[in-house]
Amino acid sequence: MRSLTLHRSQIGSGPLILVNAAHPISQAQADLQLIPPHPRYPQITLERQAAHLLWALLQATDRMGVIVPVSGWRSQAQQQAIWDETLASEGEAFTKQYVALPGCSEHQTGLAMDLALDAPHIDFIRPHFPEDGVCGLFRRLAPQYGFIQRYQRHKASLTGIAEEPWHFRYVGVPHARLMTDHDLCLEEYGAFVQTHTPVCRLDNGRSCRVSYLPCTGESMDMILPDACCQLSGDNVGGFFLTVWGEEP
Ligand SMILES: [Zn+2]
Repeated sequence: MRSLTLHRSQIGSGPLILVNAAHPISQAQADLQLIPPHPRYPQITLERQAAHLLWALLQATDRMGVIVPVSGWRSQAQQQAIWDETLASEGEAFTKQYVALPGCSEHQTGLAMDLALDAPHIDFIRPHFPEDGVCGLFRRLAPQYGFIQRYQRHKASLTGIAEEPWHFRYVGVPHARLMTDHDLCLEEYGAFVQTHTPVCRLDNGRSCRVSYLPCTGESMDMILPDACCQLSGDNVGGFFLTVWGEEP
């Protein structure tokens, strides 16, 4: 057993943070380690672990190298510029549908990547990432590498963003699998975990259990089991605890 003190500010960091119009990104993101997931595009970066897993997913699905990164991590200034430029060229309705408010974009977390099928001209705001072919294979295998298609048509009323077949968000394994199997968007995942404390059996035969710890004060002490575990803030009011190796 190990003891640990969690501070309220840590709610704002980790692979499961919810960032949307109601939950702006937290200052705790300042110490992000960013690296390029794709060696041919060194200027496009992601958080280190998300980058490694995106590259592994691309190598597993895209031997011809036809899937290209379009937009990864963005600073506040870059998100503001994209918002301003889209507003000026496309108008307010389009911008609100497809561009998140500065401070409320998943791209500012370093956990989201827009992808496109390679072409002479790639639309920066709405890249072409079809359902079939190599993109379809990428989409099907994504949860095994911890990625979800973040904005789906039937969840638009919950996410506040229109369907975006090109936008993938790293949440980690087993969360991507659980969200996919139970048809949940990230907005729904916290309540699901609090109600079900789900157990997920992984491809390697191991299983893991996900539970939720509400943050009740400015800090809280907790005891971690000896098993391999991971904590992530939810950017709402608590932490997800994932413990590997438990029997279902
Ligand atoms: Zn995006």
